[in-house]
Formats: sequence, structure tokens, C-alpha cells
Amino acid sequence: MTVEYRRILLKLSGEALMGADSYGINTDVLDFVANEIHEVVELGVQPGIVIGAGNIFRGVAGASKGMDRATADNMGMLATVMNSLAMQDALERRGVITRVMSAIPMQSVCEPYIRRRAVRHLEKGRVVIFAAGTGNPYFTTDSAGVLRALEIDADLVIKATKVDGVYDKDPVIYPDAVKYDNLTYDTVLRKGLKVMDAAGIALAKEDNKPIKVLNMAVAGNIKKAVFGEKVGTLITS
Ligand code: UDP
Repeated sequence: MTVEYRRILLKLSGEALMGADSYGINTDVLDFVANEIHEVVELGVQPGIVIGAGNIFRGVAGASKGMDRATADNMGMLATVMNSLAMQDALERRGVITRVMSAIPMQSVCEPYIRRRAVRHLEKGRVVIFAAGTGNPYFTTDSAGVLRALEIDADLVIKATKVDGVYDKDPVIYPDAVKYDNLTYDTVLRKGLKVMDAAGIALAKEDNKPIKVLNMAVAGNIKKAVFGEKVGTLITS
């Protein structure tokens, strides 16, 4: 088998690190995800990773309780740095060399995000974890994931979720929900399918960047995706 997508951008939601817990980082889940990433690194795949912060803090949650939205979003972005450092730690314990690059400079903790430097790290075989989203309030880490994918010229965006692809309605609530194998950006936007936020989809569409939506909890799914095997839902133009 040959690797079809050599450079990938893996978008993990903060909740993906939570497991069955109600808050924070579950170290067993973190180790599982790190293992999945390690496996594809050994195939020569160059992963960039963007992690959300829903397991710690979301800007909208703070704003809904009366906080200034931009301040709350800044807190959300700082929370993604914690998740990124946790992922770095889990990967490096496996011997995978990583760099965390933050869109909000904090040099004593990690590198500042510099696009050309990020590409160089990837070329050298280092996994790059992009922290602090886009560095701007009013954005999400979905948009940050697609943005970084465009910047590093990733071959594929992998959006890791809890279900095995995109459905016409919520499969957790509706047992008759139908899964799509393939979708277009326009269909996702028109039908308002819950894949990632509309800004992220629109950005991917602009550059024709394919997005694969898959279940992160199933071992081997990322590997299948990089081999171009049938898994999850593929979104293209
Ligand atoms: N955030 C932001 N700008 C960005 C990315 C993230 O302000 O470019 C903030 C925002 O408050 C968001 C939080 O960081 O709610 C965590 O990101 P997100 O909600 O995307 O996490 P996920 O849902 O993937 O866990």
C-alpha cells in the first residue's frame, strides 16, 4: 500500500481528549490518539495538528454568562495551548519529535507560529502542533485547522469526530440517519450539515482542500485515511 496523502492536517476537538470524562484531558485517550499519530509518522506522513479546547473552555460559553466575547475567546485560545502541550508530551514519550507553535506568542512555553518555519519542521519529520487557533477572537479551531492546512499546503484535512462520518441527521438521536460517503462543500453549506463551522468549509472550498471526517475512536482510521481507503466521509468540490 502506498500513502496517498503525505502531509495532513489533523483537527481534533478538545472534547476528543476528554473521553468519558466531563472535563479536561483523559490521559488514556490522549495516549490512544498519540499512538494513532505515531503510526502514520512511521509511514513517513507529515502531520500538522490543531486541537480545540471544548474540554476546557469555549468563548461562547463565557460570553453567554456575560463575559466580554473577545476576552472569553482569548481564554479559549489559551486553553488550546494546554491541550497542545499535553499532546506534545504524549507524542514525545513515544519518541515522536514535535514542535508546538502558538499563534499567540509565548516563547517561554513554545515557539511562535511562523509559517515557513512550520513547513521546515514538517520537512524534517517533526510533528507540528498549532496552538492558540488563528490567534484571533471570533474564530474557531475548525477554521484554524483549515487555515493552517492551506498555509502548509497539506494534502488532506482530517476532522476527527465521535461518529464515523457525516450523516443527514444526528445518528445518536435518529437511528434511521443515513451516512454520506462523499459530499461537496456546497451541499454541506446548503444543508447546514454539522461537519465543521461554515467559515472553515468556505475556506476549504476556496482552495479545493479535501476534508475527511472520521471517527477518531476507531484504531487505524487515520492510517486508512492517509492510504486513501474508504473510511468516514470525504468532502470535496
Ligand atoms: N478560539 C478563538 N479563535 C480561534 C480559535 C479558537 O477565539 O482562532 C477560541 C474560541 O473561544 C473557542 C475556543 O478557542 O470557543 C476553543 O476552540 P473550539 O471551540 O474551536 O474548540 P473545539 O470545539 O474544537 O473543542
